[in-house]
Amino acid sequence: MSTQAKYHKGSSDGKAPLTRDPLAGVRAHYDAVVVGSGLGGLTAANVLARCGRKVLVLEQHYNFGGLATWFKRRGGHVFDVSLHGFPASMKKTCQRHWSPAIAARVERLESIRFSNPQFELETLFTREDFTRILVERFGIERGGVERFYAELAQMDFFSDSGETTAQLFERHFPGRNDVHRLLMEPITYANGSTLDDPAISYGIVFSNFMNSGVYTFRGGTDWLVKEMQSELEKNGVELCNRVQVERIVVEQGRVRGVEAHGRFIAAEVVISNASLKTTAEALVGTQHLEPEFARGLAAVRLNNSSTQVYIGLRAGSSIPFVTDLLFSSTRETFDSPALSEMHGQSRTFSFYYPKTRPGSQRYTIVSSMNAHWADWAGLDEAQYAREKRRLQHDTLEALERHVPGVGALVDHVEVATPRTFAFYTQHPQGTSFGTKFEGLRYSLELPKQVAGLYHAGSVGIIMSGWLGSANYGAIQANKIDAHLLALRESESTR
Ligand SMILES: Cc1cc2nc3c(=O)[nH]c(=O)nc-3n(C[C@H](O)[C@H](O)[C@H](O)COP(=O)(O)OP(=O)(O)OC[C@H]3O[C@@H](n4cnc5c(N)ncnc54)[C@H](O)[C@@H]3O)c2cc1C
Repeated sequence: MSTQAKYHKGSSDGKAPLTRDPLAGVRAHYDAVVVGSGLGGLTAANVLARCGRKVLVLEQHYNFGGLATWFKRRGGHVFDVSLHGFPASMKKTCQRHWSPAIAARVERLESIRFSNPQFELETLFTREDFTRILVERFGIERGGVERFYAELAQMDFFSDSGETTAQLFERHFPGRNDVHRLLMEPITYANGSTLDDPAISYGIVFSNFMNSGVYTFRGGTDWLVKEMQSELEKNGVELCNRVQVERIVVEQGRVRGVEAHGRFIAAEVVISNASLKTTAEALVGTQHLEPEFARGLAAVRLNNSSTQVYIGLRAGSSIPFVTDLLFSSTRETFDSPALSEMHGQSRTFSFYYPKTRPGSQRYTIVSSMNAHWADWAGLDEAQYAREKRRLQHDTLEALERHVPGVGALVDHVEVATPRTFAFYTQHPQGTSFGTKFEGLRYSLELPKQVAGLYHAGSVGIIMSGWLGSANYGAIQANKIDAHLLALRESESTR
């Protein structure tokens, strides 16, 4: 296999109009075409390339990285969209599937704070620290806390008892709305799940964090994605931005390739990093799926979306260290659905100090809330602008309570809504974390419906977020490599 790197670049700065064919130089045939360059798609591409497969990545946006992205604004501001935190195992994932240089920059957050009418506390978000807080602060018996952890540790994807997270909490900490808030609020921000979702999805994700806290990426998302890009190129992956994949071509129950930008590109395997539903229903078409599978897939629920407010402080200004991640709320008690309310009282602030991007002296703050597509989708332009202004105002007011005087330092503010996320990623309803739990089964079973068709994108709550998406990409890539090997063997014996 040639390891010659190739990068078919639509445009370097994302602004210049496209004057040439973004598919120029692309071959007629690949072992695998990856649709989308989110962390799932890129990780799948890298693992396959390391197995010696010829891989092409097609991304409709000008940036690679999908939701793991950043943007720049006048005044020297750089904003990270989804770099708030992930579990420690991201280091192992980067070491195994990317490079030591990338893994070395996965670093633990120093401080996580909760601020709400029920409790004010600071934590490292580790099992040890959480146990201390639950025992000393919330008065829970140590044995009870240990039994809770022990039960979570035994959970795995194949042993779903059907219990919801609300039922799990009620069994272990009956009537303790404050404890439920401590345990649930961060996970809702991390993957959009609610108390009504299966306990198993909570258990897997919470246990991942409890291993050793919340981690981030030093250098910012821009450094990470550029480093991933050069790793991919080194391994021979071809990358094209600004290329919309219009169709995954299927004939006689088998993937043949993709149609993109008016061209057909043949491939034995197509890995879609697009939404599961878009993949099956729009790019492939339900006529290629068994009716029962298609009906089940149609019933799969999408996960919710988000709003964000990006706040950039003026060059030369600074704020003292507050915390890295602040779960803030003025709501008297915890209510899971209220975390996604349009005019909700709960938001997470991520603070980016100069340490985020060593060498830079800049401070930015990103506020995130969970959100429902339905609240934002139907607004006319005037209502939409008004709601964005309101969100901006409420957010700055909430921030001022934690960082007095910060308003005077703010140089740039910008609001993203579910409509923004839908626009940039093409995810239906601007979903931030793919589908609810039931989607995972359909994602995994796609190759049984269409030979050579794989999905590697946020799905089923547990395969979402930076860690879940990257790991899922690697899992799928290993299956694909085995599939390609079997194909080659059957061809050679024919
Ligand atoms: C506001 C917000 C905050 C978040 N914060 C965190 C966090 O702190 N920690 C964390 O772990 N996770 C976080 N997440 C979630 C995390 O970012 C995602 O789960 C993860 O990055 C998704 O990766 P993915 O592989 O599913 O692909 P995605 O990032 O969803 O990317 C899919 C890609 O496919 C492309 N695409 C789609 N259709 C086509 C097509 N037809 N042709 C070509 N290209 C196509 C899209 O343009 C996109 O680039 C956050 C998400 C949001 C929205």
